[in-house]
Amino acid sequence: MDKRQQQLADLQQHLQLLGEQFAQRLREELPQLADKAAQLQLAADPSEQLQHLGELREQLHKLAGSAGTFGFAELGQRARELELQTQQWLSSLQLQQQGLQAFVQELQQLASSHEQPATANPVAPTSSGLSKAPRSESAYRIYILEDQAKVGETIRLTLNTFGYQARHFLTTAELDTALAEQLPDALIVDVNLGNSQQTGLDYAEALQKRLEEPLPLLVITTQNDFHTQLQAARIGAMGFFSKPVDVAKLESRLERCFAQQNGEPYRVLIVDDDRDLSSRYSLVLRGADMLVEVVNDPQQLFEAMGRFNPEVLLLDVNMPDCSGPELAQMVRFNDDWLRVPIIYLSAETDIARQMSALIKAGDDFVTKPISDNSLIATVFARAQRARLLSTALARDSLTGLLKHADIKEQVVIEQERAQRNGKPASVVMLDIDHFKQVNDSHGHAIGDNVIRALANLLRQRLRRIDSLGRYGGEEFMAVLPDCSGEQALRIIDEIRQQFSAIRFAGEHSEFSVSLSAGIACAQGQSPDALMEQADRALYLAKHSGRNQVRLAS
Ligand code: GH3
Ligand code: MG
Ligand code: MG
Repeated sequence: MDKRQQQLADLQQHLQLLGEQFAQRLREELPQLADKAAQLQLAADPSEQLQHLGELREQLHKLAGSAGTFGFAELGQRARELELQTQQWLSSLQLQQQGLQAFVQELQQLASSHEQPATANPVAPTSSGLSKAPRSESAYRIYILEDQAKVGETIRLTLNTFGYQARHFLTTAELDTALAEQLPDALIVDVNLGNSQQTGLDYAEALQKRLEEPLPLLVITTQNDFHTQLQAARIGAMGFFSKPVDVAKLESRLERCFAQQNGEPYRVLIVDDDRDLSSRYSLVLRGADMLVEVVNDPQQLFEAMGRFNPEVLLLDVNMPDCSGPELAQMVRFNDDWLRVPIIYLSAETDIARQMSALIKAGDDFVTKPISDNSLIATVFARAQRARLLSTALARDSLTGLLKHADIKEQVVIEQERAQRNGKPASVVMLDIDHFKQVNDSHGHAIGDNVIRALANLLRQRLRRIDSLGRYGGEEFMAVLPDCSGEQALRIIDEIRQQFSAIRFAGEHSEFSVSLSAGIACAQGQSPDALMEQADRALYLAKHSGRNQVRLAS
């Protein structure tokens, strides 16, 4: 049994256990419900009756929501009908003696013979198509199908500069041969393939059908009409680029595809006063590789949000002391949590009430009982979108790197971490040399390309755990945890050499650009002092002739 199967088996076992716990709870709760219904018959006056009725309605509502989730579908259904009955009585303020008799009998019958759970919904995260491929450590392999030699070669060379292993094919026959040997990590296809009848999209469509798992696919074309885009979307393209292709943008999209495949697990916070139910949701989502925390007491929510920083919030609607919509409104008081989608989990089937909850705050509603797979899909889709948006918002639009404030915050975080675990961390300040001249000679747009190229090079050369930001116009900052000053010096100097070797295409001529950098290593000094040291080292590099890296002493 491999690790994944073991995890699934553990999950099934946990689910089984939770199901048994719930069955035990039913054995206690159902007779109590039946007793309460009997008291209803004996109640002395109408106000006492109404009180019992209110309590019964509350309990039936919970039962209706939870029973189905634990596999007691029929019990859930009957609880729902009985809940509606109490609701009717409550709103008409009168009980019909005959109806009451039937109601009590029904509950007693439920208590004496509730069904065994149908084998709890099997959890199948691997077959849901949401599983992630393991990340290979070597460079990503990219195949390019492009019949124009020059265009294809430019893309290939640029992607290689950025650390990919790109290959270019002029015809589908050449590509077929390469595919038979080894599949790439992503495929880039041109739509019009010269005098071939078949378009690149037709080719990609047939290819995707042959593969067990579709390849990440990007489309480049001069033909960006609706139908071409539609066909691209239908065969699962993750990007669509008009020619002439902005290779830096193409590269960022590739980055994004791979980040989505290999990203950190999504963080989900569940707030539900029902412990069994919330444990179950938590297990199901964890089975689909998400990180889950559960809060049973709404008052603990803000502490948990601050600590756990969830990407999705699942809120029960009916809880004692405080309702889900009220909690959602309170969450929305805080701008820091605006990007966190809120999904209500509720036994509420009344559309009007669902709507009124959504209008107050919140983004979506899922109705209990909810199947495991639809819970996973709903949460996954929301989390994915939230992460995409929050990454886009925290990023500089030209380079896709962190913005000034965010990279400075990263320095604080890594400096604290270094102090805690006693490992070194380095801060790097980089600045492009004589950049004003690039703008003056070749124009601002080409200057932008140079900035983007350096950003991409840094992204490719540094590790996933490193943070990278655009500090200012043509200034960058990097934070390298678990990395000594000397190690940082070696890496950054390599990047300096690679950068100066890139040939940029200017309006009339090719040109190259150099950079200078300063590095400081965290040794207990404050984050501000650390950045200042790196800045001083950069200043020294500039004044010693540029195109060099200096380590603060
Ligand atoms: P040094 O070697 O001393 O760093 O010289 P420099 O010319 O690179 O330095 P300086 O700071 O004097 O000039 C930086 C220039 O970068 C000025 C500004 O117009 C340009 N710049 C800043 N942001 C952008 C941008 O987003 N795009 C482009 N194309 N140029 C930018
Ligand atoms: Mg400069
Ligand atoms: Mg500058």
